[in-house]
Amino acid sequence: MKDRLNCPNCGAPIEGTECPYCGTVFHDFATFAPDKPTYIRTIWHDSIITARVILKSATVEFKYFENPSIEFEFMAVPDDDGTIIKQEKGEIDEPD
Ligand SMILES: [Zn+2]
Repeated sequence: MKDRLNCPNCGAPIEGTECPYCGTVFHDFATFAPDKPTYIRTIWHDSIITARVILKSATVEFKYFENPSIEFEFMAVPDDDGTIIKQEKGEIDEPD
């Protein structure tokens, strides 16, 4: 496997999660491993949630040609202290 990633939009080398040339945001789902829990963080309603997960499945759906979809399903994996999801309220700095 290549050590270096290239932007899927313009081909420039990428380090991190954003192409320094064209600004494309890049999330490398290939880093998820079924046997290695990791953390995801997302906005959910008026909170930010952080969850410890493993990638359970990825489904590519071409049935509806006008709206093909890719669904990623994560399975929550509790921390050592049993925590599954941490929720932060009132700390969201949403873009305009
Ligand atoms: Zn790019």
